[in-house]
Amino acid sequence: MITWRSIARTFQRHHAPFRAQVRQLSLLEQHSHKLLQEFKLPVPPGFLVTTPEQAKQVVSVINGPSVIKAQVLAGGRGKGRFSSDGQSGVRRVESPNEAFRNATNMLGYYLTTAQTPQDGLKVDKLYIYKAVSIAQEFYFAMTFDRQHTAPVLLISSSGGTNIESNVDKLHKLYFGLSTGITDEIDAYIQAELGLSDSEMKDIHQILVQMLKLFKEKDATLLELNPLVRSEEGEFVCLDAKFGFDNTARYRQEELFGLEERSPEQEEERRLAELGLNYVRLEGNIGNIVNGAGLAMATNDLISLYGGKSANFLDVGGTTTKQALSKAFGILKKDERVKGILINIYGGIVRCDMIAEAIVSAAAETGGFKCPVVVRLQGTNSEKGLKLIKQSGLDNLVVEPEFEKAAQRIVKETPSVE
Ligand code: ADP
Ligand code: MG
Repeated sequence: MITWRSIARTFQRHHAPFRAQVRQLSLLEQHSHKLLQEFKLPVPPGFLVTTPEQAKQVVSVINGPSVIKAQVLAGGRGKGRFSSDGQSGVRRVESPNEAFRNATNMLGYYLTTAQTPQDGLKVDKLYIYKAVSIAQEFYFAMTFDRQHTAPVLLISSSGGTNIESNVDKLHKLYFGLSTGITDEIDAYIQAELGLSDSEMKDIHQILVQMLKLFKEKDATLLELNPLVRSEEGEFVCLDAKFGFDNTARYRQEELFGLEERSPEQEEERRLAELGLNYVRLEGNIGNIVNGAGLAMATNDLISLYGGKSANFLDVGGTTTKQALSKAFGILKKDERVKGILINIYGGIVRCDMIAEAIVSAAAETGGFKCPVVVRLQGTNSEKGLKLIKQSGLDNLVVEPEFEKAAQRIVKETPSVE
């Protein structure tokens, strides 16, 4: 099935500014940690701190070697670099004073990893664990394989920060959500990972609990990396990553309530509730489009003719006057927008209705202060375009052809340079 998110993902691959902006539930480590505990998955006790003084206190309570981790919504921290001292986002410290020194160089500074923007993400929280002496790092993940439309287990005995370069060592096992972790699965894992009977007993228990969490929380991804075997022979999870089904938002209110959002994500979420899919881009041409495919094509054509879109705004298949008013409101507030292209394909909705909605929504928001090109095509489009022409609204032109409409708005929009 083609969903808005899958299209956005394809779009994201081709358009760099879109990259960091796809909507997704992200949990900070402190929250994923709680979830693991709730489902009886083994994690060492952790403490959240926001000042160097607290970091020092926590390490004196742990009373031994500890690990300080930057709390950002990005992985790869172990191989990341801090703007302050060039050190990574996961640091082992031996004493409270060392914790204080390191926390001073982490809090308030930017951490850049392979998964953050180039300038990094600001760190204002740290999570501190007791250091575990690691004998071996494993990778255990549960997710859905879309091609096979089946849940799948991904397992490797070469987990940790180098997992990307060890993908060839990843074992893939399909399983049933109802049949769960069967004897066959256990036997395969035990043989592939070379585990003893008692180790396999622990791993079986971990898999059973992972599956429980996966099902009960509508997860789409549950990744333990690393799940380590300590020198003492215990299995402990030191880092986890979760993905949750966005459509399960209503069933998992508590979980989604933990979501950390940037102001842009907050805006996107508010709009999504109104049926609008909005993503901010870098340019100055505002778009109002119905349908994600058309929105992508519109952005592509604009850039083909040398323009730059300020947003990706899909008002949805059942474009209503209310949705259009809201969309105008957003573009109006956006000071970067110097031209607007309204590109609506009338299918289920009729173009004359859309035209009426555009005219009255425009009038309601006080008309247009910048050039606006309207392209309507589909059912009753002629009637619709006529209505717009007759509206007498300033700055509004109609252009029935898609290509010409894109060309026109690029031409009409004052360039920033
Ligand atoms: P990221 O995945 O963001 O790089 P991790 O939390 O996975 O961060 O940490 C990176 C590496 O640091 C782990 O693979 C592990 O080797 C080590 N590490 C993390 N937590 C601990 C801990 N409590 N004790 C010992 N080593 C740890
Ligand atoms: Mg990790």
